[in-house]
Amino acid sequence: MKRFFCSCGAEIFFDNTICVACGKLVGIDVVGAEMFTLRHKGKGLLAATVGSNTRYYRFCEHRSPDILGCNLLIREDDPHDQCVSCRLTRTIPVQDIPRNVKRWRTLEEAKRRMVFNMFRHHLPFKGREDDPVRGLCFDFLEDRRSNPNVAHEVVYTGHSSGVITINAAEADPEYRVSMREEMNERYRTTLGHFRHEIGHYFFMTLVEGTKWERQFDVLFGNHKIDYDAALKEYYANGPSPDWQEHHISAYASMHPLEDWAETWAHYLHMMDTLETAISFDVFNIDIEHSDFRSVIGKWVELTIIMNSLNRSVGKPDAYPFVLSSEVYDKLIFVRNVILSVR
Ligand SMILES: [Zn+2]
Ligand SMILES: [Zn+2]
Ligand SMILES: [Zn+2]
Repeated sequence: MKRFFCSCGAEIFFDNTICVACGKLVGIDVVGAEMFTLRHKGKGLLAATVGSNTRYYRFCEHRSPDILGCNLLIREDDPHDQCVSCRLTRTIPVQDIPRNVKRWRTLEEAKRRMVFNMFRHHLPFKGREDDPVRGLCFDFLEDRRSNPNVAHEVVYTGHSSGVITINAAEADPEYRVSMREEMNERYRTTLGHFRHEIGHYFFMTLVEGTKWERQFDVLFGNHKIDYDAALKEYYANGPSPDWQEHHISAYASMHPLEDWAETWAHYLHMMDTLETAISFDVFNIDIEHSDFRSVIGKWVELTIIMNSLNRSVGKPDAYPFVLSSEVYDKLIFVRNVILSVR
């Protein structure tokens, strides 16, 4: 992600609602992928200077630190009370349990970054109010493993016809660590979940039934093979021993659709992290218009730096993955699909 600066010159960060240097209000215009210093204009309107113009916004209904501390702005002509990210959430876990207040917050923080990514890459989506059948929405659900008073025995994180379900316990660090160990994974984050699941949504809207479908099947395998059978097989016997030659992660070897979602999430990780490095002058490359081989070259260089920095402070590798030539081809496919929607 690029860096943001307050009108006072101080650096401001993606989750900030005020500039810590001067105390002015700040907020994110997710549609324009920008962050602005704001001035109160009365009647709930905020003004931001955009070049030589003034643009007007309202705060998201969830801006208060007692709710979500959401700093996404609503453009003046948008009639909604909630920002474009908050209003995609359909179900939240009951808020009279303090643990669930924290969980909702944690999940929304990660979701805002993912929504920012969608706009940054110009990825088109519709909410449930515009498309009740395949529109995007999020259900954050608890299951009986963490709350005996709820209806669901087990909640699986996943996507179905625009509905993304996230097990609310994924917001708990201890749950993620125990699941990561149990599933023998190298990487499990809330942001990673959102980027993975939105990948399934964009398979449905950008690949399935389009000119991309045939090439998809050649690269990732037939996406129509029995999903439930593949899932059973994966949990009974684990990934194939040579999965690293073909897939970005062990889980990606489960089914072509999981391979796609994992590869998609990795592409977003790469582009976002590269953009951050470029904005801090670690190096300079045009990540969208340069040849992908040069982009990957910089990415490998960057992951060596990131992992070495992490080891220096006694942390595990930030990016514990290896990119094989097959994975490289799949990443190019994801990139081409994303660039084609411009
Ligand atoms: Zn400031
Ligand atoms: Zn919001
Ligand atoms: Zn998946």
